Amino acid sequence: MFEGLSDRLGGVLDKLRKRGALKESDVKEAMREVRVALLEADVALPVVKTFITNATERAVGSDVLRSVTPGQMVVKIVHDELKNMLGEGEDINLAAAAPVPILMVGLQGSGKTTSSAKIALHLTKKRNKKVLLASLDIYRPAAQQQLKVLADDNGLGILPIVMGEKPVSIAKRAMDMGRKEGYDAVILDTAGRLHIDMELMSEVAQIRDAVNPAETLLVTDAMTGQDSVNVAKEFAEKVGITGIVLTRIDGDARGGAALSMRQITGCPIKMLGTGEKIDEMEAFHPDRIASRILG
Ligand code: GDP
Repeated sequence: MFEGLSDRLGGVLDKLRKRGALKESDVKEAMREVRVALLEADVALPVVKTFITNATERAVGSDVLRSVTPGQMVVKIVHDELKNMLGEGEDINLAAAAPVPILMVGLQGSGKTTSSAKIALHLTKKRNKKVLLASLDIYRPAAQQQLKVLADDNGLGILPIVMGEKPVSIAKRAMDMGRKEGYDAVILDTAGRLHIDMELMSEVAQIRDAVNPAETLLVTDAMTGQDSVNVAKEFAEKVGITGIVLTRIDGDARGGAALSMRQITGCPIKMLGTGEKIDEMEAFHPDRIASRILG
């Protein structure tokens, strides 16, 4: 579990682990290193502060410092606290009347369309569900076609494209087709913009009101760091989200954004995108991200 630690942080924690008696000042010094590591991993400052406060409080507790192996206990506290704040992975919620509407939201380029198809494949293969995909992105040229190609190539259901149709009507038509043709879930891939704007938010809210989704999944790119935290906050406040899909964790981002987004939105991270291919998606495991964040 500790193999992913950076030399610097690993060294500090290692030293701590090997020591006998510890003083409160030893713990505080180690926490300063942990703080730097978290900031370097792009964890938002308020989240870092909460983390350090919680971990320090537990680590200087009398039973820890007086224990036989205080160093080891402090190291374990740092890991446990990180895992705790990252939360458990949760699968897509399908606990609603079929066809279950799933809304995919996020900025353009975040990996929304790819993730829509990946989740459809995941639900088909892993949970034996019949899934219909529908693109509501009437703005980006070829967006609807992109989802159709992904669906056709992978034997997934796709709503036929009707040129000139508005997003809310497309969403309703998708739900109708889902009902008539016995689909278990309908994944609605909404349009993204380069930046958050009111028009995008109100369109997504209208679609949400029209279909009452069981899941509204925010797709964000792990590589964008702190920016993705602001995006998550906006979507959570203006639209309401139920989960996060973090893409491009195959890149070299340290993944601190995952911790920030989890804390700031209170929503679980449901899936991780691990590559461009449609089967490159996996369930969220806090252990994996925890060691990555620590460096
Ligand atoms: P959208 O505009 O949000 O719908 O984004 P797309 O789904 O079109 O994705 C934009 C680009 O990111 C495409 O080239 C995808 O292949 C790529 N992409 C999506 N998810 C991942 C991922 O998890 N890892 C990597 N490496 N690339 C991804």
